[in-house]
Parts: sequence; C-alpha cells; structure tokens
Amino acid sequence: MPIYKAPVNETMFVLNDVLGLERYNNLPGFADATADMVEAIAGEAARLSEEVLFPVNLSGDQEGCTRGEDGSVRVPKGFKEAFNLYREGGWLGLAVPEAFGGQGLPYVLHTAVGEYMSSANMSLMMYPGLTQGAIAAILVHGSDAQKREYLPKMVDGTWTGTMNLTEPHCGTDLGLLRTKAVPQKDGSYRISGQKIFISAGEHDMAENIVHLVLARIEGAPEGTKGISLFIVPKFLPGADGEPDKRNGVSCGAIEHKMGIHGNATCVMNYDEATGFLIGAENKGLNAMFVMMNEARLGVGLQGLAVAEAAYQNAAHYARERIQGRSLSGPKAPDQRADPIIVHPDIRRALLTIKAWNEGGRAFLLWTALQSDIAHRASDEKERQTADDLLGLATPILKGVLTDKGFDHAVMAQQVYGGHGYIEEHGMSQFVRDARIAMIYEGANGIQALDLVGRKLGMNGGRAVMALFKEIGDFCEDNRGDESLSFFTKHLKKGLNDLQAATMWFMQHAMAKPDNAGAGSTDYMHLFGLVVVGYMWARMAKAAQAGLAAGAGEREPFLRNKLITGRFFMERIMPETALRKARIESGAETMMAMAADAF
Ligand SMILES: Cc1cc2nc3c(=O)[nH]c(=O)nc-3n(C[C@H](O)[C@H](O)[C@H](O)COP(=O)(O)OP(=O)(O)OC[C@H]3O[C@@H](n4cnc5c(N)ncnc54)[C@H](O)[C@@H]3O)c2cc1C
Repeated sequence: MPIYKAPVNETMFVLNDVLGLERYNNLPGFADATADMVEAIAGEAARLSEEVLFPVNLSGDQEGCTRGEDGSVRVPKGFKEAFNLYREGGWLGLAVPEAFGGQGLPYVLHTAVGEYMSSANMSLMMYPGLTQGAIAAILVHGSDAQKREYLPKMVDGTWTGTMNLTEPHCGTDLGLLRTKAVPQKDGSYRISGQKIFISAGEHDMAENIVHLVLARIEGAPEGTKGISLFIVPKFLPGADGEPDKRNGVSCGAIEHKMGIHGNATCVMNYDEATGFLIGAENKGLNAMFVMMNEARLGVGLQGLAVAEAAYQNAAHYARERIQGRSLSGPKAPDQRADPIIVHPDIRRALLTIKAWNEGGRAFLLWTALQSDIAHRASDEKERQTADDLLGLATPILKGVLTDKGFDHAVMAQQVYGGHGYIEEHGMSQFVRDARIAMIYEGANGIQALDLVGRKLGMNGGRAVMALFKEIGDFCEDNRGDESLSFFTKHLKKGLNDLQAATMWFMQHAMAKPDNAGAGSTDYMHLFGLVVVGYMWARMAKAAQAGLAAGAGEREPFLRNKLITGRFFMERIMPETALRKARIESGAETMMAMAADAF
C-alpha cells in the first residue's frame, strides 16, 4: 500500500527561512498567522491529509464515481465522510474574507496546506478546489445580493461550485462557444446547451451545486467578445435561501477517463435552465479569468503534490528493495544484495524529483505570496509589482510544475521496476492522476503561448524586467559570498540564457510569429528553470544562514538542503543552454513539411 507524510518541515523552511513571512505582518490576515499558528495549522492539515484523505485515495481510484438512471452521481465510498471532516474543519474558507464566513488568513498558507491535501487525494480535493475558484469569481464580479446568497454556503462547503467552459466543439478556442442565454422579463436568463468534461459537475456530497456557466446572450457578437458568465444553481434558492426548485440542469453522463477516477467529470445538459448574469453582459471571459487564474495556481500545485507523493513512495521503496551490489562494493554485506538506493542511477532519479519538488514548492509559495501582496497591500506600487509577478509566474507555474509532475510520477514509477506498473503499489495511479494537470485549465502549450504572446510584452515588459532585475540583483548582492558562489554562478548563467532567448524573440518573433510559437514551450521551461534556480539560490542562502547561526537538530535537514540544491544547479540548471539553442533554431524546419506528410 502507498504511503504519504505531509512535508511540514519543508513548508516551514520556505515560509519562515526563505520568504520570511513575518515581514508581511502589515498585510491584513498576516498578523494572525504567527509562526506558531502557521505550524499548528500545517500540522492539523497534515493530520487530515494523512489520516482522512489519503486512506480513501487508492480505493477511490479503483471504485470511481457511478451515475444512476436519474442522472444522480455517487462518489466513491468514504469520500463523503472525508469531505465532511474537511468541511467541518473550515478548510474551504481559510483565506476567504471573514465577511463571507471565511477566516481571512493568508492565501500562501491556504496554498501550503492545499499541497498536502492534493498529495493525499487529488480527486477528492477537486470538489472544494473548483468551489474555491467559483467563490473567487463571485467575490470579484458578483453583485452584493449574489455574494450574500451564494458565498456563505459555498465557503462552508454546504454547496459546491463548478466551472463550465468546455463544449464538444470548443475547448481552447472559447470564441466558438454555442451555449445560449435568452433574457427573461424578471432579469434572469434561460440557459440551453451542452457542456462536456465538467469536473465535480454532479455528486452526492453537497446540498446544492453552483455551476458557473459561459454562454452567449441571444444577439451578442460572435467570438470571445460575445460571451457572458452566469450562475446556474442545481436547485434554485427559495425565499429563505435554502435549495428549492430543481433547475433545468442535469448530468448526461460521466466521462470514462485515464485517471482522477474519484472526481466526477460530467457531461452537463442545460435545458432552459434559469441562470443569473455575473458581472456585465459580454464580459464573461474577464470574470471567468479570475476563476481560471486561481485555478491555474491550483493545478500547478497538483503537479507538485502528486510528484511529492510519488517521490515519497519511490524513496521508501528504494531503501527497502534489494537488488544487485553497489558499484563501489557491498553496502549491506549481511544481505544477499544491496538496497537499490545505493545505485547512482536510482539516486539520479530520486534527487531529480526531490530537487524539483523542493524548488517547485518554494516557487509555488512565492507565487501565492505575490497574490496576497497584490490583493492585500495598502501601497499601490507594491500591489502593482506583485500583480505583475503573479501574472507572469502563473503560466510558468502551471505549465512547468505539471509537466514535471507527470515526468516525475513516471520517474518514481520507474524506481519500482515492474512493481510500479502493477496497480497495488499506487504508482500507476500517481502517473494517471498527474497526466490531466498538463491538459486542463488551458493545455500546457497554451500556457507557453500565454507567456510568450501576452505576459512577456504586457505593460512594455514591466513584469519580466522586474523579475530579471530581482534575480540579477540577488546574484550581484551575494557576489562576495564565497559559500554561495556555486549557486550564483549557475543562476547567473541560466539568467543569461533566459535574457538572450527573450532578446531573440524580440528580434525574430515580431515579424514572424511562428518563431514565437515554435519556441514557446522551450521558453516556458527555460523560464521555469531560472525561477526555480533562483528559489534554490535563496534556499541555499537561508540554509547557510541557519547553519551559521547554530542549527541544532535542524542541522542534517539544512545540510541535505544544500546537497539537493547543488544537485539542482549542476545537473538540472545546465538545461537552460539546450532550451535556448532550441528557441534560436526558429520555426523554419518545423513549418517546412506539408500537413499531409505527417
Ligand atoms: C478530466 C478533465 C476535466 C476537465 N474539467 C473541466 C472543467 O471542470 N470545466 C471545463 O470547462 N473544462 C474542463 N476540462 C476541459 C479542458 O479544460 C480542455 O480539455 C482543455 O482546455 C483543452 O481543450 P480541448 O480538449 O478541446 O483541446 P483543443 O482545444 O482541441 O486542443 C488540442 C491541442 O491543440 C493545442 N492547441 C489548441 N489551440 C492552439 C493554438 N491556438 N496554438 C497552439 N496550440 C493549440 C492544445 O494545446 C492541445 O494540445 C476538463 C478536461 C478533462 C479531460
């Protein structure tokens, strides 16, 4: 059976030693998040993840969701009870403003504990995950009445939420969307159409489901300019606010799919369902983007979360499984063979995953902190800088951490040899679950295009220049620090490659946009390497400071941190040169062959 232990010490190291959370005491909600309080909350989340969510992960994968003749959907055994404990613990509202029933704590804390929960049970955590996205959209774009009507029940998890964009003929290109909204005299709309692939679309864990649906109002312009966003509840709230009349929305089927079997991915049929406009007419994509940006961070988190769970199992297995002898002589002479962890190639795999997970976690929490600053700081300039960095980091985080999440779930599976391919160890589930994160919330190719086509040039390149400066300044400020020079040397080289690739795009992609498209995925990964490399340099600095101050029982942890960081710098960072070379080869060869020659 698979194992999982929430890495609380890793989280605390990033929050306290690297990001210095106490420096943000002036932000609303942060003063309550003292180091002790944060550790206590992380500990409680760890307990819930290990003891409640994780035990129903493998069984949920095996059982899946079932749909009844009447369109109702039953989640796997144990999910409802686990979700109830999650809900009763107030986890859904951890970072939601107190005015709507939340606790107003930092989003970075919500993100940190969200990792444990998604590691423990990604499928189950998608039900509240989509609810959180829907809450964010209603908070920003909903009317006061909508906020009063829907938010408290969604924040306490009595009602859950969904996000309905995709239709059979329209996924990435939402301009093709056909679902129709017809205005009614009472100000509501009649919504008709079919949505597919809707996560958590129907289930038996909540009293009501609040669908956020993109649709085109009759007579609205074609393309993305004519799309509006609607609240379509499964049950229309009555005068007392409780679920009343059944609305014209139903689950037509559950999709059969590769992974996340515990999450009901539904075909949703809207048959003159009553819907209520959120925000302005034809501005639905703006409103949905609030939800999507939040969700993209949450999907990046899923990539890390699954890779972490897979890593823990692979490391445990590598210590136990005996096979062959160490190249440098037996390490367990009393046994008939050595444990496979003595083999350098097994260590290569484990350290690759570990180095990405620890660097990725720092990147994730750094990004979540930018979100806190962007939404809570009193100083406008500070808010703007953080918002720039958040916008730039989001596609990189989503694309890179989920590509790595899948690669590393496979790498961890490889450590098990044939036993990884057999279902009972759970490694196959990690691989299958991790795969979807590369696809939904905008396939990773689209994240790369968002980065190159939109985020790079936004506001005259303000965000990218600010980040390059921050990383360059870090290298410069620490130039005299001998103990850090190994890290800054590699980081500087990676930054040079990234800056050169950025310049190449400026010179070669304006006139020939295919050059941008051809290099976009490599650019996203090049950027990811540099940002995670920057996180490693900061972690190394923090680890060295901790050791210099007398680390006590934390000493082995901090020394191992430096070893893992060195591995990242010497074994992973050099990939920046390869990525840059690919980008600079341009689109010509790629576009040379006729479509029918493929
Ligand atoms: C399990 C699961 C859960 C999901 N949950 C939800 C949900 O809750 N709500 C929801 O609305 N949707 C959901 N989706 C849908 C998901 O977001 C889409 O599948 C995804 O956005 C891609 O759309 P598509 O499948 O139509 O692929 P397409 O848009 O057809 O894309 C196919 C390929 O072409 C590439 N491509 C497309 N356009 C371009 C372009 N202009 N330039 C370069 N490359 C391009 C894409 O990157 C992709 O690799 C879910 C999907 C799955 C499988």
